[in-house]
Amino acid sequence: MKVAVLAETAPGETRVAAIPETVKKLTGLGASVAVETGAGRFAGISDQDYADAGASVAGRSDVLSGAELVLAVSGPEAGDLAGAAPNALLVGILDPFRRRDAVNAYASAGIEALAMEWMPRITRAQSMDVLSSQSNLAGYKAVIDAASAYGRAFPMMMTAAGTVSPARAFIMGVGVAGLQAIATARRLGAQVSATDVRSATKEQIQSLGAKPIFVEGVAGIEGEGQGGYAGETSEEYRKAQSELVSTHLAKQDIVITTALIPGKPAPRLISDEQVSTMRPGSVIVDLAAEAGGNVEGCVAGEQVVRHGVTIIGATNLSRSLPADASALYSRNLFNFLSAFWDKEQGRPVFPDEDEIVRGVRLTRGGSVVSERLA
Ligand code: NAD
Repeated sequence: MKVAVLAETAPGETRVAAIPETVKKLTGLGASVAVETGAGRFAGISDQDYADAGASVAGRSDVLSGAELVLAVSGPEAGDLAGAAPNALLVGILDPFRRRDAVNAYASAGIEALAMEWMPRITRAQSMDVLSSQSNLAGYKAVIDAASAYGRAFPMMMTAAGTVSPARAFIMGVGVAGLQAIATARRLGAQVSATDVRSATKEQIQSLGAKPIFVEGVAGIEGEGQGGYAGETSEEYRKAQSELVSTHLAKQDIVITTALIPGKPAPRLISDEQVSTMRPGSVIVDLAAEAGGNVEGCVAGEQVVRHGVTIIGATNLSRSLPADASALYSRNLFNFLSAFWDKEQGRPVFPDEDEIVRGVRLTRGGSVVSERLA
């Protein structure tokens, strides 16, 4: 099977869908891998590195010519895949809801498109979960960006010239990104607290050495929530949460918000009035900026100052760590492909009834087949 690895063309995309390690592993499965010239340029991987790993390196038309499997990060347009084999597989982050026309175009072009961000949150799929691998890096980078925008130090320092007090960091939303944000802020020496609506996160917060800030006496979401995800909470809970957060926020220097509810706009966690109670010079990083933002006044992709507080509307933070983001993403892709690899046919075979396949497959045989897009 010929596998094509594209050089990404989406604005701001720095990642690549294969690294030399996964090229070798794919070759080990019997595939031949063709990498587009310059594909690894932002991730610090040269064309020679790919060649040394056993790939052929060429321009796009040669790479795509006859390819039966195309590996991408940001979903390419169907028109950009001309030359690939009929019924070629496309694996990438395809953004199906926002790129519905592109999904229809994949179907019309006979491409079988697999959206990696729709990987089910089940134990078997953990090693294939691109949202987790990228969120983990985003949680780390959010704290680094906050530290860099903050005009003070994070750790307590006792010096001959006096004491520097530690920064107080508050993490709102303790999923994959939030847990890494807690760990990173702790490593930098901040005093960390965190909150979530899912009661199961309380113990996780404590195990990382941070202080849980939870609404008591009003039910949030017991345990992990459906499929591990949060849902919307009651009006009563939201009011209690807002009151609790108001008192706490006024004492914080750094706030990282990561709260998301699948299929819904991000919940509003911080009002403009609450921002105004924070100390000037404080920094908020809103990782939910693209989903509408957890923070009032946040602008996706921009850094704004409100009441002396810097609000960073973070988007796609993993792209600012291209080498690690590409390495983790590529391994997610390889783990997915190898789990379905049929040695005799020398290609992955995706059974219709498999839970993972049902989750990620968007198009097949000229039609859109995803249940979520029905
Ligand atoms: P996410 O990105 O969907 O949301 C981030 C966090 O925001 C979640 O913890 C959520 O509970 C929280 N949140 C939502 N509304 C909130 C509100 N109003 N106030 C405060 N917090 C709010 O979450 P995620 O990072 O994708 O992780 C969700 C869960 O899925 C976690 O339990 C994680 O461990 C689990 N997970 C499982 C697998 C697997 O088994 N394969 C893989 C990844 C994640």
